[in-house]
Amino acid sequence: MNEKITIALAGNPNSGKTTIFNNLTGARQHVGNYPGVTVERKEGRLKFKNFDIDVVDLPGTYSLTAYSPDEVVARKVIIEEKPDVLVNVVDASNLERNLYLTTQLKELGVPVVIAMNMADMAEAQGIKFDYQLLSQLLGVEIVRTVGTKKQGIDELLEAVIKVARRKSDLPEKQVKYSSEVEEEIKKIEALLNEDTSVTHEAAASLEGIMSSRDNCLKRWLAIKLLENDKDVIGTVKSQSGAKQVLEQLAKSQEQLKKISGEDTEMLIVDGRYAFIRGACQESTTFTEEDRLSMTEKIDKVLINRLLGLPIFLGIMWLLFQLTFTLGGPPMEWLDAGFGALGEWAAVHMQEGLAQSLIVDGIIGGVGGVVVFLPNIILLFMGIAFLEGSGYMARAAFVMDKLMHKVGLHGKSFIPMLIGFGCTIQAIMATRTLENDRDRLLTMLIAPLMSCGARLPVYTLLIAAFFHESVAGNILFSIYLIGIALAIIMAKVFRKWLLPGESEPFVMELPAYRLPTIKSVLIHMWERSWLYLKKAGTIILAASIIIWTLFTFPIIDPQGNEFESANVQMEQSYAGRIGKAIEPVIAPLGFDWKTGVALVAGFAAKEVVVSTMGTLYSIEDEDALAEEEEGSVKSFADRTREKSGYTPLVAYVLMLFTLIYVPCMATIAVLKRETNGWKWPMFTIGYTCALAWVVCFIVYRGGLLLGIGV
Ligand code: GDP
Ligand code: MG
Repeated sequence: MNEKITIALAGNPNSGKTTIFNNLTGARQHVGNYPGVTVERKEGRLKFKNFDIDVVDLPGTYSLTAYSPDEVVARKVIIEEKPDVLVNVVDASNLERNLYLTTQLKELGVPVVIAMNMADMAEAQGIKFDYQLLSQLLGVEIVRTVGTKKQGIDELLEAVIKVARRKSDLPEKQVKYSSEVEEEIKKIEALLNEDTSVTHEAAASLEGIMSSRDNCLKRWLAIKLLENDKDVIGTVKSQSGAKQVLEQLAKSQEQLKKISGEDTEMLIVDGRYAFIRGACQESTTFTEEDRLSMTEKIDKVLINRLLGLPIFLGIMWLLFQLTFTLGGPPMEWLDAGFGALGEWAAVHMQEGLAQSLIVDGIIGGVGGVVVFLPNIILLFMGIAFLEGSGYMARAAFVMDKLMHKVGLHGKSFIPMLIGFGCTIQAIMATRTLENDRDRLLTMLIAPLMSCGARLPVYTLLIAAFFHESVAGNILFSIYLIGIALAIIMAKVFRKWLLPGESEPFVMELPAYRLPTIKSVLIHMWERSWLYLKKAGTIILAASIIIWTLFTFPIIDPQGNEFESANVQMEQSYAGRIGKAIEPVIAPLGFDWKTGVALVAGFAAKEVVVSTMGTLYSIEDEDALAEEEEGSVKSFADRTREKSGYTPLVAYVLMLFTLIYVPCMATIAVLKRETNGWKWPMFTIGYTCALAWVVCFIVYRGGLLLGIGV
């Protein structure tokens, strides 16, 4: 029988937990480079020697004070699931900050092993560690690891087993606070001693935190009380004999304030840092010449006060330029492929409903979406590269000042940037925000950041209506308008809906690193596969539904199909839906067909494109009959001919697609994350209204000025 051990990985965001987790379990998973990627629980299992080891990857946290949802999750797992060993992944190149969490884990009394990760980075910066000395000073087993090169993983497991079997011979070490603080800790501890009921009942309700070490428990309780930990105070309050303890607590805090002029919480934070600094100074040496690390040099330019914003915009512009120009040719090949496939099916199948379903519904609809895969691949490759290199966190830093003006801080910009990939991920990433109002506000504006699913709509319309030379700029302008609207709406909501101050916050800027090709490829592959999967499921289903709605009821089964295609469509179910909403959208320059596409786009934004694919494929049959064989038109050409749009209408349609309702899946996630229908409904309402107003202004303005008509 194998022995079972459970371990949990704890550590600051970006310390490399997920990388170590993948090394341990072999599981594949997205690896990002800013706080907030690991918000969900990741589990895995491995065998090592004669042990079965279960591994949990905790969300990244800087401390265990239980302020943010991530911290609550991490603390809950540690307390309730009682992993046998906590593997504390620390970023060796940023050691002091990372060890702060370690001191808290130790105070909790859980067995800890430190993975000194990113040791390669630290060494490259000229930092040298005396691992043995450091582990003596901290009283924790330490193993040097380099997650990206799989170094130190076996040694880490050896140490885990040693600690799990309590075979470690390191001295018991805890943070010693200043003598004044220690004195007050003792006084409170003493009361907890006298009145055992407080201790025991508190211990019962905080069961598991303390292993079985009673001394550790009392000390921890006393420190947490001094720190004003809401949870612990709440627990103690409900116990008998709590009165004396709380009286002493108030006295202690007052006393400490009098002596030092500081809040007790600060004194305790200081104490922990002093302990860490002491240990680090003893065991770390720097080589002189590498003072100004590469990262600092690069940051002098990239987050420069004047250059930062233009550089950010320039990088974005480049990304969209590449998405369009590099993605163009393969897109055309795919398009030609699907065109040929449609023609082949049309020739080889009997004319009739089945043929129309396959050619117009499925090949026209699903094919119309799959065609844009190259652009999607490029967009996600770019995003993965920016994430992996550490630039995304800088973008947030650059935006920090602007974000403060609208009552948010730069940290909120990170989920927004993630929204360029997918709004759902953006909403998940808001979990790193500590303040509930900030979080809600960020969730409300996240859908305005243009997600990957909207790219096919833009690509199609731009290819159909704009010259190649301006394509990238048009695309860039749509994304910029999204960001601008998000910022404006943040200001509006902050003022009237969720008033509050933005909290001061220090941005964590991870060191730059060249992302491994593998991690970029994995990320890109996962997103592309998701896109294809979506095409094969939601979009396939939506295409069939749309085709059905356009085809039935059949007015004149014997009639001349070619001539009546338009009449047929107009009185089909879809036609009736479109006609019903036409009055609302007509002022924006949209006809009933566009209305159908937009309604269908509720399911997923790609469906706007697949609907057009089906629509124009049905219509194209008129043409197909007249034209000579073999001249299959490209999707973009068909769109230009059949839609009747002007470039202005096409642009307005892109704007509408950008702004109006997030997709159904996003709504579902919003409901889950906000515990109710109120905010999802609000989001649907405000985005539709905003879309209408913005599009009305742009359309009417364009008409007046005669642009793109
Ligand atoms: P997490 O937020 O703690 O889960 O961190 P990740 O595992 O996502 O890692 C963040 C980034 O650091 C990724 O780009 C990793 O490839 C990179 N990384 C992880 N471990 C190391 C390491 O030991 N050395 C270097 N140079 N990079 C690493
Ligand atoms: Mg992670």
